[in-house]
Amino acid sequence: MGLVIALNKGRILKECLPLLAACEIEPSEDPHASRKLIFDSRSGGHQLIVTRSADVPTYVEHGVADIGITGKDTIEEYGGAMGFYELLDLGIGKCRMMTAGPQGQPEPKGVLRVATKFVNIARAYYQRQARQVEIIKLSGAMEIAPLLGLADTIVDIVDTGNTLRANGLEARENICNISTRVIVNRASMKTKFSEVQALVASLNDVVES
Ligand code: AMP
Repeated sequence: MGLVIALNKGRILKECLPLLAACEIEPSEDPHASRKLIFDSRSGGHQLIVTRSADVPTYVEHGVADIGITGKDTIEEYGGAMGFYELLDLGIGKCRMMTAGPQGQPEPKGVLRVATKFVNIARAYYQRQARQVEIIKLSGAMEIAPLLGLADTIVDIVDTGNTLRANGLEARENICNISTRVIVNRASMKTKFSEVQALVASLNDVVES
């Protein structure tokens, strides 16, 4: 039985295609050069679904994909899913989920206004800190929110910190470390156990070598 594997467009697709190829899973055509979103594999009867990151956990939870490859940020933001297991850390796409604010400015007292795309991660983080916040949802370019006076703080992904610096912000607290993970649908774990185990084992070998 073939596996259906969902993975994000962009960075994760680019970094994961060579890993999957090393496990003998190759799409029948180049996903970067095609407008198709579902690809058959050249061998093994697998299928690759290329989608937006936020939809990868949804596909896996609902069982339309057996396996998903996406960032820990996406999995955490998706929240307490019962429908899949996180089986492997691919050790790529490493970055941090951080709070950030205007350089040299202390955080204001009282209710903190926090702009982010990651509202669930931010809410859970400030709840753990027992800090009262107003979460403001943005879909991107969080860095400009403090400049425009929309928020005091942002919660965003930081890699080199260049984006923050370019916008007059500084990284403050590290909420969690992020990297690319492999998730598996709970039912597929039983019904396609040997295929899932074989792929996870070979991905693990590729990552470790
Ligand atoms: P940097 O300027 O290197 O700190 O990169 C920060 C920006 O790049 C963030 O706004 C993120 O959207 C994006 N980014 C960096 N690394 C990753 C990653 N591993 N996964 C997803 N987005 C990332």
